[in-house]
Parts: sequence; C-alpha cells; structure tokens
Amino acid sequence: MKIAIIGAGASGIIAAITAKRLNKDLQIDIFDANKSIGKKILASGNGRCNISNTTISSKNYIGENPSFVEFALKEFDFKAFEKFCKTIGLMLDIKESGKVYPLSNEAKSVTNLLQLALEELDINIFCEHFVQNLDKKENKFIVKANEKEFKNYDKVLISSGLGAAPQLNATEIGLDIASKFGHSFNPTYPSLVGLQTQETYNGKLQGVKKECNVALYVNGNFEQEIFGDVLFTSYGVSGFAILDISQRAVLSLSQYFDVELRINFSPKINVNDLANQIQTLFKNLPTKRAVDILIGLVSNKIAPILLNICKIDINTKANEINIKQIKSLAHQLNSWKLKVIDTQGFSHAEASGGGVKTSEIDNRTYESKLCKGLYFAGEVLDIVGNRGGYNLHFAWASGYLVGKSFSK
Ligand SMILES: Cc1cc2nc3c(=O)[nH]c(=O)nc-3n(C[C@H](O)[C@H](O)[C@H](O)COP(=O)(O)OP(=O)(O)OC[C@H]3O[C@@H](n4cnc5c(N)ncnc54)[C@H](O)[C@@H]3O)c2cc1C
Repeated sequence: MKIAIIGAGASGIIAAITAKRLNKDLQIDIFDANKSIGKKILASGNGRCNISNTTISSKNYIGENPSFVEFALKEFDFKAFEKFCKTIGLMLDIKESGKVYPLSNEAKSVTNLLQLALEELDINIFCEHFVQNLDKKENKFIVKANEKEFKNYDKVLISSGLGAAPQLNATEIGLDIASKFGHSFNPTYPSLVGLQTQETYNGKLQGVKKECNVALYVNGNFEQEIFGDVLFTSYGVSGFAILDISQRAVLSLSQYFDVELRINFSPKINVNDLANQIQTLFKNLPTKRAVDILIGLVSNKIAPILLNICKIDINTKANEINIKQIKSLAHQLNSWKLKVIDTQGFSHAEASGGGVKTSEIDNRTYESKLCKGLYFAGEVLDIVGNRGGYNLHFAWASGYLVGKSFSK
C-alpha cells in the first residue's frame, strides 16, 4: 500500500513512524515545503519545545466540538507519548506544573531524533516540496507538488497545519484540499496571540511587565479570569496571561462582539484595602507629589498615566488628594479597562483556531467521513489547545491514530 503524508510536522511525522513500525510493507512518502522537517516543533516553546503535558483533557481544547479529542487523548495519553519518546531515544523533563520538555532543553533534539526514526524506517522525505493540489482518480490519489505529479497513493494524510506563523511556510492548503473533497470548515483565526487595544497610551507603558489578574468581558459580561504575566507593548498587551486569554477574546472578536480586558494590578489586595494603603502612604508623605509616592506601588511608567486617567494633575501633592480621588485610583488599579480591537495576526500567533469541521471526521481513525482514504490530523482540524504543550500533544495523538489506521 502506498501512502502520502502532506506536512512533516508533529502529526504527520508520528503518523508515518507509527504506520511503518506496525506494517513494514507500506510505502510512505512525506512532503513538506520546508528545507527540513518539524519547523514548528523547532520554534515551539521559544526553542525549548513544550512538547506535551501530563494532565490533559478535552477542557484544554477549543473548537466547535472539543469532546472530539477525547478518544485520541484516551488512546494516546501522556504515558503513551512518553513511551513513544523512549522508542526514538528522547528523554523528557517533566515540570511540576505538568508541562513537559525534552530533557536536553532543546527542540533540535526532538527533530533530530524524529528525522533518524523516519530514515531508519525508510520513509521517503520530500522536503522543499510545496504541495499545490490533491486529486483522486479511480480510487488512487495524486499529489501535485513543485509542478510534478506523485501518483498511485491509496491513502493520504493532510497534516499541513494552518496559517499561524506564515514565516515558517505555514499555509491553509489543507482547507483548500478539504473543500475540494466536500468538507466544510470553520473560519480560521489567530490564537495564543498578542492583543491590540484601543488604549495604547502612545507607547508610554511599553515594556511594563507585571503579574496581574486579567478578566475578559464580552458584551459587558464576565467570561474568564487568568492570573499571569501581562506585558504592555506599543500596540496593546501581550505576555502569558494575555496569550491564554486571547483564545476566547479572539473568538468573540471574530463574532464582532465587544471585547474588553480588565486588569487587576494588585490581585492579592481587595479594592478597599488598596484604597486604605494609598491613603496611608499619602498621609505619611503629605508634601510629596502623589505621582512620586505611587511609584512605590506601581511601575514608574504606570503612575503618571494612572493619575491622568483619574483626572488628577501630575504635580498634585499627596495632601491635596481627597478620599474620592483615592478611591478612584484604587478602583483604576483594580480594574484597568482595555478595549480589544484586533490581534497581532497570524504571523505572531502560536496557533490557529478554526479549521476542518470535526463532525466530518471519524474520531477513532481521523479518516474523512466523506472521502475514503483521506485523513486529517493536527492543527488543520477545528481544534486548538491552550498554551502548555496541548497543541503539540493533540498533533501527536491524532497523528498516532492515523498511523495505526494506516497500518491495517
Ligand atoms: C512560535 C510557536 C511556538 C509554539 N510553541 C508551542 C509549544 O511550546 N507547545 C505546543 O504544544 N505548541 C506550540 N506551538 C503550536 C504547535 O507547534 C502546533 O500546534 C503543532 O506543531 C501543529 O502540528 P501539526 O502537525 O498539526 O502541523 P505543523 O507543525 O504546522 O506542520 C505542518 C507542516 O505542513 C507543511 N506545509 C504546509 N503547507 C504545505 C504545502 N502546501 N506543501 C507542503 N508542505 C506544507 C508545513 O511546512 C509544516 O511543516 C507553537 C507554535 C508556534 C508557531
């Protein structure tokens, strides 16, 4: 049997290795536009590759039907992944948080070992082959890449991902192919991405980084709250808490809802206690400028903007500020509102939401329900994971199921 795999990312590679290990008679050709395999694996986790997570459930995924992932996560849980890693010689470093990295701390070891495993199994790797099209004639698939036709495939896996990080040759060819074979897809959107906000303060907060509570409000209703780093930028906000909250924020934005973030700079203190603290500070240093006192509480970049938002002159002394103004300062620090107007786009996103509708895919084999012999795995499907190794884990798990199915 002859198999083509379009996309040598995590899902395509593990599908090829799994299939060939279970059935040595298969001929597997794997195509990728890049010079080498696994470019996104290399880019992941800032080059360290947050490869998986020890605690995974469908709750870590977003899509039209997140429970679609349950069978794959049951069949290929973290233990199964760890076992697979051992077979290619990859040792893992499991952090207390549950995040998993290669023990070498380098994504390069992951791609090197995967490359060796593919070569040992005589899987044909066609790098620098840009796939333009897929056809099916008389039950055989034809892959068109680099203007050439590769023929006679019995089965094909589309593991070409989606458009996040186009600088790594990411494309949405998978959606074109899916449509051609009668599939529908949910619109794609950047996920795990920085957010542009209406308030940019002329870049004056750029570089301010603080652990905050970030609450997401959609059309005025509370949706989600996340604690973590917030980084102010020239365009708006980024940082881990923002990347995490971006998943729901962007989805709401794509539906033209009103999206607002409320940042709590002092999540450990309630708003009344914060007002009391500010009042005590002002009482102790009555003749100092309020802005200089506030620097002891928040960043020196935040203090003048805080006063400005609360309509207090920058030169106002502490003893000139009344209790109403103190409450307003505390309230602003407790609930700093930012209106989200856009994202930093696919080129800055770690993943893509949307994709091929999972209702048209068999969740046990990842074969298309519409076209026999056609399979989909990984990010090309309408499943996107939270930050923390969940996207790569879904790519491994779905690719593994495809590989098992190919071997039969
Ligand atoms: C900067 C960054 C950091 C990330 N960090 C993490 C992390 O730490 N942990 C985590 O879990 N996830 C992370 N992710 C997400 C994760 O890398 C992806 O979700 C995952 O790699 C998807 O795997 P995949 O196999 O579905 O597709 P991909 O890895 O996207 O593989 C698809 C392959 O198809 C190829 N391709 C596309 N179109 C064509 C075409 N027309 N012809 C030929 N080849 C084509 C591409 O070159 C690519 O190699 C990160 C992503 C980015 C961009």
